Amino acid sequence: MIVSLYPHCLPVKGFNRSIICDLQECIYYFIPNDLYDLLVKHRLLDRKLLIEEYGGENSEAIDDYLLLLEKHDSVFELNKSDTLEFFPKLDLTFDEPSIIDNAIVDTDNNLINLKKILPQLEDLCCVAVLVRVLTSISFKELKKLIDLFKTSVIQHLDIIVSKNLLFDYKQFQSLFQENLRLNSITIFECERDEIDKINVENFSNSTIGYVKRTTERFNPSGHCASITPKTFVLNIKHFSESQHKNNCLNKKMSIDIDGNIKNCPSLATTYGNINKVSIVDIAALNDFKKLWLVKKDSISVCRDCEFRYICSDCRSHIEDNNDVFSKPPNCDYDPYSGKWSDDPQKMSFREA
Ligand code: SF4
Repeated sequence: MIVSLYPHCLPVKGFNRSIICDLQECIYYFIPNDLYDLLVKHRLLDRKLLIEEYGGENSEAIDDYLLLLEKHDSVFELNKSDTLEFFPKLDLTFDEPSIIDNAIVDTDNNLINLKKILPQLEDLCCVAVLVRVLTSISFKELKKLIDLFKTSVIQHLDIIVSKNLLFDYKQFQSLFQENLRLNSITIFECERDEIDKINVENFSNSTIGYVKRTTERFNPSGHCASITPKTFVLNIKHFSESQHKNNCLNKKMSIDIDGNIKNCPSLATTYGNINKVSIVDIAALNDFKKLWLVKKDSISVCRDCEFRYICSDCRSHIEDNNDVFSKPPNCDYDPYSGKWSDDPQKMSFREA
């Protein structure tokens, strides 16, 4: 039998062990580094030829490897070895038409920042915007905010509101129904933690967004969540972007409440103010884009980790503030031992 890995099943080597990322099923599983080396050397897995090459004493290991790949549905059978040319490798080149792909805009209930920035974000072909309202806001004002996006080219809108909103379900439902770009509203300083799915009757009762309430206080300079298998992202976009660029900061821009332009709200460096410069000019500056290039393969420790193309990076919280290539401190995985901290919560449902 001759088999080959499906192009969407991509092996990634770590110091201690490797994984196969199945970007179609959105799962990963562990394999030994010896199997990784074998898969890199042989696109065609012909049991007979492999035993000839590695010797009969390794036939049991070869059978185990082939069984493991078959069990996870990672290989397909080929009748003839010369048909492999019809199954090209997945192209992991990464490019996007947008100059800025996603933006975080802080505003108050007057929406001054947002009104100023929105046309410029459209000029930059921005796809997703997170608006963070740092003051109390009424239903009418929130509706006005969402209406700004009504004829916009922006495809995804998420909103964070720092103070509790006492709207009822019907009011939220109307906001989501009238603007299908709206994906989520997260509300801080609530009395309880809960998530409401927003269903819309006209859409076969399907969920089109959610409202998340939290008792936490909002911190505008934020803190990135801890890295665990639950935060891993398994899709082609993230996997291919991570090969070339920083998967958090690439094409990201943030505007704080004072109009300062940054890479991310948690980073201190500002590149100008929206009242003095255009964000289109800032987005073209090499200095503004320098962190976009800090990819996982350049970061200490992460470069030896098998999770590096499915793990999100953070450059605002790093172990050594003098070294932009140091590891995020909010990760307690050690790729050299292959161990997380003792926390059993760190097991992921996506680990196959
Ligand atoms: S070591 Fe780096 S790549 Fe690996 S899980 Fe931690 S942060 Fe992610």
